Amino acid sequence: MAELITALDFPNAQAALAMAERLKGTVPWVKVGLELFTAEGPEIIFKLKDLQYKIFLDCKFYDIPNTCKGAAASAARLGTDLMTIHLSGGERMCRAAIDGAREVREDVKLFGVTALTSFADGEMPGVAMGVSEFAAYLAGKAAEWGLAGIVCSGFEVSGIKAAYPDLMCLCPGIRPAGSEAGDQRRIMTPSSAVKGGADYLVVGRPITKAGDPKEAARRILCEMEGCSR
Ligand code: C5P
Repeated sequence: MAELITALDFPNAQAALAMAERLKGTVPWVKVGLELFTAEGPEIIFKLKDLQYKIFLDCKFYDIPNTCKGAAASAARLGTDLMTIHLSGGERMCRAAIDGAREVREDVKLFGVTALTSFADGEMPGVAMGVSEFAAYLAGKAAEWGLAGIVCSGFEVSGIKAAYPDLMCLCPGIRPAGSEAGDQRRIMTPSSAVKGGADYLVVGRPITKAGDPKEAARRILCEMEGCSR
């Protein structure tokens, strides 16, 4: 069964923790990304863990192998359950990050970002391939390099799952029918992404900007489980 992750894309701990308190007991995972982590640092992770959340640290590491190794080790030490690195950082960088995390904890998962869901065809600098084709190509590399999973859009997930059944797929760019796309380009509904084989769905604004975030999360969970309401 796919799991739901709420993206806490907030500028400070106060706003993020208020949302986490509101959603407690509904969604098991929260995502701490660049905005929140840059503002608040490790302390926000400790506070969210105190609220019993599983932590997805989405800092999308991309640097030389030695630096990524250290960053992944530091993230593992904070108690992160799942973290992201860019697959375009290449094999040595990805393998170094895996080693860094594993030296601290065996159970932490590293997922490789294929192509951001905000990219449309022709927007990736220097990439002549279509975005979905490029994402599938990088997914193959992730499987070869030993990553636990990848980040891709709902459009790519079924093809990637068919080719690499053991690779877990985490899909952002999820939009329940009728909600706004915002800056996302390759969007999909929760039920379609789950039917395609997604293991994790990351949803931010459709939950956090809703009038009743808990109800919005419940509806998405319901849609993921295949119920009609
Ligand atoms: O608000 P929204 O649902 O668009 O948020 C999607 C979340 O997923 C954001 O936190 C964004 O950083 C993240 N993400 C993404 N595309 C990726 C990887 C992560 O949108 N490829």
